[in-house]
Amino acid sequence: MALTGLAIYKLLPKTNCKDCGQATCLAFAMQLAAGKASLEACPHVSAEAREALGAASEPPVALVRIGREGRVLEIGNETVLFRHDKRFVHPPGIGIIVADTLDDDRLTARISAINRLSFDRLGQIHGVDLVALAYDSADPARYLRALRQVLSQTELNLGLLCPDPDVAGRALAEAEERKPFLYAADEGNLETMVDLAHRYGIALAVRGRDLAELAVLAEKAIKLGHKQLLLDSGAREPAQVLADQTQIRRLAIKKRFRPFGFPTVCLAAGEDAVLAAAVYVAKYAGVVLIDTTDPAEILPLITWRLNVYTDPQKPIAIEAKVYEVGNPGPEAPVFLTTNFSLTYFCVMGDIESARVPAFILPVDTDGTSVLTAWAAGKLTPEKIGAFLETSGIGARVNHRRLIIPGGLAAMSGKLREVIGWEIIVGPRESAAIPAFLKELQ
Ligand code: SF4
Repeated sequence: MALTGLAIYKLLPKTNCKDCGQATCLAFAMQLAAGKASLEACPHVSAEAREALGAASEPPVALVRIGREGRVLEIGNETVLFRHDKRFVHPPGIGIIVADTLDDDRLTARISAINRLSFDRLGQIHGVDLVALAYDSADPARYLRALRQVLSQTELNLGLLCPDPDVAGRALAEAEERKPFLYAADEGNLETMVDLAHRYGIALAVRGRDLAELAVLAEKAIKLGHKQLLLDSGAREPAQVLADQTQIRRLAIKKRFRPFGFPTVCLAAGEDAVLAAAVYVAKYAGVVLIDTTDPAEILPLITWRLNVYTDPQKPIAIEAKVYEVGNPGPEAPVFLTTNFSLTYFCVMGDIESARVPAFILPVDTDGTSVLTAWAAGKLTPEKIGAFLETSGIGARVNHRRLIIPGGLAAMSGKLREVIGWEIIVGPRESAAIPAFLKELQ
């Protein structure tokens, strides 16, 4: 277990000298426990305490990097078993498996299908992270040829699924600049694969036939000096994979079992591969490899990943600015709402379904919904007035009518006074917007 603030405090000098920038040693200890400060900031800590705290401040699941500068995929560095305890930090990379047995045309088609797996969600672009080239042909020349094709046709990060150290070494010499991860070291090739991974400074997946063997192999890899590891328990049945994932994470977090203190890699295959992949995203994969390029399968997976890896203590918010639905002209109605993304997208969807071009103004309420924001004093007439002013909406419409959510009816009088616009009280539920707009016109 990571040390608590109080446990850390006991090891500090307790002089409250403020040299670390904090008012007291206790405040510094709390910052350290929360991962918001570095021990280096205290110049007075004793060597013994430094040793004890240094080990304790290492994350229970190591941070592992895949990929070159500017496109690095960071995984691991997790500190909790359950998302609601704090949050999960680094979303798992999603990699698409590509067999080197595909002929040139089919390989090109597959890579371009992978390149197209990019989606706009809430204004952000999300996509897959890796191409995992599988050495299925058992033909070194074929593998290297396929690798060159992959390198020239995609900028995505790479995984080399090649357990043959000779071929992996030749592949790494060609793909060195991409900093791929190498899969997988096992009982038969561990030393040579560790040597390769070490030489190229890349992450290495270690695969056991079960958890016990995985622990032994990971321990050996650590002793050989390589600490950028991924773990694969060798299980392929989703229920067993889930059980292994849970054990690995539990032992890493609760027992600080070093061989399991690394992110995992999971392979999702078969008819229910997407379902299995969704399970692995939730618990607790660092990389999920899957054999599909179907957007209808990948988009839900990416959406699920986004949901699991949001901060449960922070509502998802959108930017507070003027949004257009359709192609609104100066006559178009202006709707007011908040920047809680769920609220905004409900309002936007219901206006869209009414097929009436309109403007939407989501006020910044720290991502809270209308009634919560109002009750918390985050949605006041003054704040709405200031937002109307800065948004520039007044210059885009030839009227001064603002439609507010029905839940804000009580503030309509004061709002009219403050902003000088006519206030139209809209429906309490956004689902009633289409009928409301019909009546309004
Ligand atoms: S620098 Fe060290 S001794 Fe001084 S207040 Fe900070 S933690 Fe305490």
